Amino acid sequence: MTVQDVQSFAAGQWIAPDSSARDIHSAITGKLIARAGNSALDVDAMLDFARNVGGPTLRAMTFHDRAKMLKALTMHLGQNKQQLYDLSFATGATQKDHLIDIDGGVGTMFVFASKGRREMPDAHVYLDGDVEQLSRSGSFLGQHICTPLQGVAVHINAFNFPVWGMLEKLAPTLLAGVPAIVKPATSTCYVTELCVRIMLDSGILPDGALQLVSGGLGDMLDNLTAQDVVGFTGSAQTALALRSAPHILENSIRFVAEQDSLNASVLGPDAVAGTPEFDLFIKEVTREMTTKAGQKCTAIRRIFARRGSVPDVIEALKASLGKTTIGDPRDEKTRMGALVSSGQKQDVLEKAAMIGQEAERVFGNPDDFEVIGDDAQNGAFVPPMLFHCDAPDSAERIHDVEAFGPVSTVMPYEDVDHAVKLVNLGQGSLVASVITRDGDVARQMALGAGAFHGRLYFNNRDSMKESTGHGSPLPHMVHGGPGRAGGGEELGGVRGVMHYMQRTAIQGSPNILSAIGGKWVPGAQEINHDDHPFTRSFHQLNIGETFKTKSRSISVADIEKFAEFTGDTFYAHMDDAAAKRNPFFPGRVAHGYLLLSFAAGLFVQPDEGPVLANTGLDNLRFMKPVEAGDAIKVRLSVKHKTPRNEEYGEVRWHVTLTNQDDELVAEYDLLTMNSYKTR
Ligand code: NAP
Repeated sequence: MTVQDVQSFAAGQWIAPDSSARDIHSAITGKLIARAGNSALDVDAMLDFARNVGGPTLRAMTFHDRAKMLKALTMHLGQNKQQLYDLSFATGATQKDHLIDIDGGVGTMFVFASKGRREMPDAHVYLDGDVEQLSRSGSFLGQHICTPLQGVAVHINAFNFPVWGMLEKLAPTLLAGVPAIVKPATSTCYVTELCVRIMLDSGILPDGALQLVSGGLGDMLDNLTAQDVVGFTGSAQTALALRSAPHILENSIRFVAEQDSLNASVLGPDAVAGTPEFDLFIKEVTREMTTKAGQKCTAIRRIFARRGSVPDVIEALKASLGKTTIGDPRDEKTRMGALVSSGQKQDVLEKAAMIGQEAERVFGNPDDFEVIGDDAQNGAFVPPMLFHCDAPDSAERIHDVEAFGPVSTVMPYEDVDHAVKLVNLGQGSLVASVITRDGDVARQMALGAGAFHGRLYFNNRDSMKESTGHGSPLPHMVHGGPGRAGGGEELGGVRGVMHYMQRTAIQGSPNILSAIGGKWVPGAQEINHDDHPFTRSFHQLNIGETFKTKSRSISVADIEKFAEFTGDTFYAHMDDAAAKRNPFFPGRVAHGYLLLSFAAGLFVQPDEGPVLANTGLDNLRFMKPVEAGDAIKVRLSVKHKTPRNEEYGEVRWHVTLTNQDDELVAEYDLLTMNSYKTR
């Protein structure tokens, strides 16, 4: 068998390993399969290439351009994933594991592509929150904006997910407009290298957007600046060494850490044996222990059940884990593959022995278990190992030692407060799950354990069919945890993009804020046009373009007709004396919906034209009641435009209704879909 030279991609060139390269062995057979590392890698040239070639090109694109680029990448990766599956077996992963790593990685990138289109503007500046009124008349306002960092993101990843681990960081980074240098863990970097090759060969990425270091990083971290970011995933020990380097501290270089975690799962007091929740709990724990042979940062390391349920839990888990066939992941009979390397196997066995000093082993003997596969005798296989500790309050290692393999400990709790206390002994975790149907238990756990966890996962018979699993970080939800888990936070939709952008508070006049943010701000200059705005195409409309209607008076007959027609005969519209007793109304008033309907009647241009549909109203507020005899008029201004597809885009209009005294009666954002054509 040939030994693969795993290359780096530096400053536009593929670089082969040199004599300093490290050997990489198959997780299944223990044989040498690859080498990676080059001590002469020119890290300055790489940083330069990213900062001066990749960064400017990415920043010239809008969020939507970059989101489209991500979507194209996901399509391309999806078409080429079989190559990644084939190679990835050597890491010890099964086909089911590939679905998490490879399909999960591509899926994560896809979610960022669609969130970029839906939740970010087709512009270069991201607006964070609403305009803040900083002055009485509104001539001086505030707005938070986010712009891309002008450096490079260095991503240092763990070995367990060579594809997902890269893509979950790369997608938000590229969406932000920042180039990345990816450094996968050496033991599985051959899979990451293939994935990077597939992406670069597609021609979709601009030069300098993505580089790869297979092997050591050299002194790259010592050459970073405050415009750069380190995104780290790995052990707490490595994180501490890297983040506490004087250069990182002195320059306030952002360091986002995802590290190891003693995640827990709690069987609710209501979920006794015989309930669907009990069976669900056993299924989730078994899956979390055996997927990726337990090499998952979110895997369940600590299992808590009410004292009376502990014997049932142990028996059920023994039966379930007993069905786990172990061996060559390419064999269809195999349910659990190998650990990544013999070094990792040794580490897991040592850590399991430490846990064994405080707990009794109730399942899994590493010296006596069957392995499927003729060529697998030297592979890094271990069985699932289950421990039982009856005195969790006095245990230390169980709440502190992470055996990064299929190892977990069952422990009793007395009541929910006690369960909270025990779960929190993990000193900050990525995730805890609670299997319960009791809303009070869930609330008590959320209040008590929320501050110690990045994610809490509640499941029961009502949600189990569609639930996503204790161990799955989702691109929509934050992934990370306080304290022991590293204090970092990734994913979480647009929140994850913010690690690669700078938030800046902007203060100035409405015109200045509109010019910077690309969004019309009340008080900014209005643009008037002879033609009605509903006759103008999406592209013809200008931000700030304003249309003012004539006024319309409201009569008692209008109010009564509307009440009769809609069935809304609420007393404030029908009974003057009753309305007067209400602290909000001077007497009988017009319906708010009547005002909205009359407003539409005032501003709509009825002919077939570029306005295709009214898709909603946002931020509607009624400020002042309107009585019979009052007259309202409407002002409509183009606030923001967002292209949606090849044919049309969304126009957000700022709408105000005022009365005969120019007092604000109602205010809202109107959303319409407008064609790119005038007809
Ligand atoms: P690790 O030994 O800490 O290595 C993590 C990464 O750091 C690897 O890429 C490694 O590269 C690199 N590294 C080590 N020393 C370095 C140095 N001096 N300078 C620059 N880079 C350096 O962790 P691992 O064994 O790969 O992964 C297992 C751990 O990761 C477990 O503890 C697990 O809980 C944690 N993990 C956490 C998450 C999460 O999201 N929180 C996800 C997955 C895994 P080399 O391989 O070349 O040494």
